[in-house]
Amino acid sequence: MSVSKIRVDAVIFDWGGTLTPWHDIDLEAQWYAYAENWDPVNARSLAKRLCAAELDRWRVQRESAGAKSTGALDQIFLDEGIDIFSARHLNALASYLDFWAPHTYADEQALQTLQDLRARGIKTGVLSNTLWPAEHHQEVFDRDGLSSLIDACVYSSELPVAKPHADAFSSIAQLLGVSPHTCVFVGDRLWDDVHGAQSIGMRGVWIPHSQLPTAQLPAFEVVPDAVAEQLLDVVRIVDEWNSFTHSEST
Ligand SMILES: [Mg+2]
Repeated sequence: MSVSKIRVDAVIFDWGGTLTPWHDIDLEAQWYAYAENWDPVNARSLAKRLCAAELDRWRVQRESAGAKSTGALDQIFLDEGIDIFSARHLNALASYLDFWAPHTYADEQALQTLQDLRARGIKTGVLSNTLWPAEHHQEVFDRDGLSSLIDACVYSSELPVAKPHADAFSSIAQLLGVSPHTCVFVGDRLWDDVHGAQSIGMRGVWIPHSQLPTAQLPAFEVVPDAVAEQLLDVVRIVDEWNSFTHSEST
């Protein structure tokens, strides 16, 4: 009896709630950190407008099933009439990023997980639904010593689409130079991550610890190919799947 599993050549990770642990973020507070620098007198109202603009972008992305991404963080500032090249903006943006910094540290098992996959000759990637440009994420990965262990990254802020749209998943597979059928996707969201990955033939591994709002849960049952209670479980799961590929028999 032959085992039908195809060898895993690449493992692709979601970022928030996956490579970095889930944190509940006060979205208006993040914008207030920006607004109190940009316009201290009207900071509260500006923060409310920026927050509403962000939430609207996430809503459109969610309701279109990723056919329309949120677009880039800069667009939110541009829509508010902010000069994104001004020193005033860059100072305010630094405060926004300082607000986020404590919430961006990698999971304590991320480094070991990526090292173990690299040692097995398995490619690694990141596919994140995010407003942030690649450079912000790159700075976080550099700080945490992960950059050299990640072969490719795709961010929805730089795509017309987002997870769970198939084109988001095919983008990262293409960049890694692998077939979707040889990819494992690891994420904390059953709909965006697991269902999206499975819809183009990737195996979906779920990390079940994020406290997602009901509106962001799938409207139908999604069954992950495996559940990882912690990141290092991913290595064990991949080892198990790849051991099957050596046990072909007639
Ligand atoms: Mg996530």
